This record gives sequence, structure tokens and C-alpha cells, in this order.
Amino acid sequence: AERKRRAAAVIEEVESSLATPTALLRSIADAMVTEMERGLRGDIHAQLKMLISYVDNLPTGDEHGLFYALDLGGTNFRVLRVQLGGREKRVVKQQYEEVSIPPHLMVGTSMELFDFIAAALAKFVDTEGEDFHLPEGRQRELGFTFSFPVNQTSISSGTLIKWTKGFSINGTVGEDVVSELSRAMERQGLDMKVTALVNDTVGTLAGGRYMDNDVVAAVILGTGTNAAYVEHANAIPKWTGLLPKSGNMVINTEWGSFKSDKLPLSEYDKAMDFESLNPGEQIYEKMISGMYLGEIVRRILLKLAHDASLFGDVVPPKLEQPFVLRTPDMSAMHHDSSHDLKILGAKLKDIVGVADTSLEVRYITRHICDLVAERGARLAAAGIYSILKKIGRDKAPSNGSKMPRTVIALDGGLYEHYKKFSSCVETTLTDLLGEEASSSVVAKLANDGSGIGAALLAASHSQYA
Ligand code: ADP
Ligand code: MG
Repeated sequence: AERKRRAAAVIEEVESSLATPTALLRSIADAMVTEMERGLRGDIHAQLKMLISYVDNLPTGDEHGLFYALDLGGTNFRVLRVQLGGREKRVVKQQYEEVSIPPHLMVGTSMELFDFIAAALAKFVDTEGEDFHLPEGRQRELGFTFSFPVNQTSISSGTLIKWTKGFSINGTVGEDVVSELSRAMERQGLDMKVTALVNDTVGTLAGGRYMDNDVVAAVILGTGTNAAYVEHANAIPKWTGLLPKSGNMVINTEWGSFKSDKLPLSEYDKAMDFESLNPGEQIYEKMISGMYLGEIVRRILLKLAHDASLFGDVVPPKLEQPFVLRTPDMSAMHHDSSHDLKILGAKLKDIVGVADTSLEVRYITRHICDLVAERGARLAAAGIYSILKKIGRDKAPSNGSKMPRTVIALDGGLYEHYKKFSSCVETTLTDLLGEEASSSVVAKLANDGSGIGAALLAASHSQYA
């Protein structure tokens, strides 16, 4: 009984520190809009960098030819080739391969990482079959999706601002990532030109627009989180160049670095942040994305193990190990709908090393997963809502006309595979928008849109175009 009382006290405290009432989400969205505006002004203290992508035109459907893309994001990287057939034939053929990044390369040297990538790319190019056609005398061209914050200096160059998501490599920050990749490709004897350097959000936006003309923003919910959207070029005070003909510019918000005292930051978040590779940074991302959700759950379970002997008299040593509980495991536990939570029990045995957990312990564990996932999903929805507010798509225009159909392209393993998470993002967004506006807003899974998107942008920025 004493244990139960202590467990209840911890759970109650967790519930209140993770709570995200709708009114709070609205004020978080407002704070985010303010930070977006600061970022667009070029305020050096702005939390959202609002990076200029140099993409002022999104794909039209007319793109044609053979293009490659390379996507370096989190734990995996993907190589892709696509034969584009123009307006009529669209994507004639595409192939891709996924390669996981050996963990030691994520914290090694820049050269080792890029050599590894270029070698995998060269191997992939070697398997190019008859279905793909490169006109005589032309160089192969590549769109490089690089999902880390970059100060873009043109569509095909940019310097790394910082590593995120568990990457920590000396000597890349401040360097042009396209030259790093190009040099590595040369070392591999691979003759290929990088014609577009894009963030994954920008790639997803481009890929999404190719599939659906009403896509105005893209959101990634994967290992990390980020968003990009189409902004009016004249709403970007820090843009000093000529205004693009289209009047538009895609902005990579880098919203993962958002921070606000309005965010419901618990002691678990603070401790995780403190022990992370990048303390004080990427606070919004750390509350939302796949790299961290399972770890937050682990920390809460550990507290329950300590304070309320949740897993018996001794705290299971495995539970002390940071990041043993991964978000896909959390998702599997959360989705267990069997009457005795059998799957969850098996996971606890596997991960934490305690067999024979009581049904009550399993329910508590599932409830913790629910609390952490729900907070993440609701905060992500607040972010999407803030972008819609920023571009005036959160309500019907004041001139009385109907609100235009508005599509958000979403991608990332978290959104794709964690059903309870993605459903919660959608219902929260509907709640924030209200009935009328939400009937015009569609959240659409753009599965691996960023690869195709990067290839499309490589096509529209081809040296032969
Ligand atoms: P990245 O973000 O690294 O480019 P992905 O978009 O594929 O790659 O996202 C991978 C992330 O998605 C994983 O790190 C994990 O956190 C999350 N994820 C993958 N599968 C699941 C799942 N079944 N349930 C919950 N999260 C998942
Ligand atoms: Mg990715």
C-alpha cells in the first residue's frame, strides 16, 4: 500500500509536469510565431534560425532525366536514383538503398564519415541498370539531403552550423558540406556533381509539392524534428538579394531549437538535456522526437523504480542505462491492446530484465508511454499550427473568401510508425484550428518524399537546365 501511494504520487507529479492543455499550446504557438519573425529579421538571438534555402521554385512536374539523391539524416542514410519523365510520365523508375551508419562514424572524423558515404554511393552507382538513361557526355547529378542546420550560401553550397541528433564530429562545423562530399566522391573516383544541397524538410516539401500542388509546408518527425514552409520573399527582412521572380522562398525553420519557458519541461527533460551531447540546445526537439521519447520514459520508470519499487526491491540495473529503451519499443508497449498486456510484459523482460511484471505495473508503464507520447505529439501539433498562423492558413481570409486547401507533408519514422503519436498530432491540430479551418487542412504522409524531393531539386538546378 505504501508503494502504491508512492507510485501514485510520482505519476501525479509526472502528469502535471507533462500536461499540455490547449490554451498552453496556443501560447506556445504564439511564442513560436514570434521567434519565427525574429529569425526572419536575422536577429542573432532568435531561437529559430529560419534558414534561407535558396529554393524559390518548387517542382512543377516538368522535370526530366536521371538524377541521384543522397539523404544523410540520422541513423541511416539512403541513396536513390530516379528517372524522371516530365509532365506525362512523371517518375518512370526509381531505386533506393538504405545503409546504416556505424555508430563510431557518428562521433569520428569528418573525412571518415564522408568517405563512408561516398563509397556507398559509388557502389550504388555501379549497379545502375538499363532502365536509367544519362545522355552522352553528361555528368551525373545529385541532390544532397543533409538534415542538419546549414548556413546555405547558394542552392548547392552551405556550411554546417552544428551537429544534432547524436552526431558529434570534429572539424565539420563551419565547413562547406558540399565540398566535403565532393572531395570524398573524387577520392572514390566517382564523377558526380552536387547541384542541390537541401535540408530534409525542404526535400520533403519539394517531393510533397510534386505529388500534391497544395503542399505549403513539410514537417519531419523522425530521429529529430524540423519543419520547412513556403514564405513570401518580402516577409524575410534579412534577405538582401534580389527578390525571386516567384515571390517565394522556402524557409527551413530549424524549429527543433525552439525553447520557451512556456514549454512543459520536467525534471526528466532537464536531466536528459544536461547529460546530452548538446546541453541547453534543441529543447523542443528533445521533447518531441524519436531519439528522445523512449529515453524520457526510461527516466520516469527509473524514478518509479527508485521511489516506489515499481520493479521490485532492487532497481533493475539495465534500467539505469541511458537510451536502453528506444522509441520503437516504447511504441510497441504503448500499442499493446491485449487484455494482459503480454507484448508490453515481454518488452519489459527484454529491455529492463524483469520477468513476471504484474498487470498493474504494465498498466503504469503503458500510461507513462501515453503521457510522454501525448505531450510530444501535442507540442508537434502546436508547431504545425504556428506555421499555419505565420502564413495565414489558420483561418479563412478576412475578405470572406473560402480558405484554400492547405496540405502539410509529414515524414519521418516516428510519424510513420507510431500510430498513437500521429493520430494525436492530427486530432490536436484539428482542435487548435477549429472545425471550419481544419476542414481545409490536410496532414499527409509523404513517405520518403525528401529523397525524391532532393532529386527533383537537383533536376531543376541542373547544370544542363
Ligand atoms: P531519420 O530521422 O534518422 O532521418 P527516420 O525518419 O527513418 O530517420 O526516423 C527514424 C526514427 O523514427 C527512429 O530513430 C525512431 O526514433 C523512430 N521510429 C522508427 N520506427 C518507429 C516505431 N515503430 N515507433 C516509434 N518510433 C519509431
Ligand atoms: Mg530523415
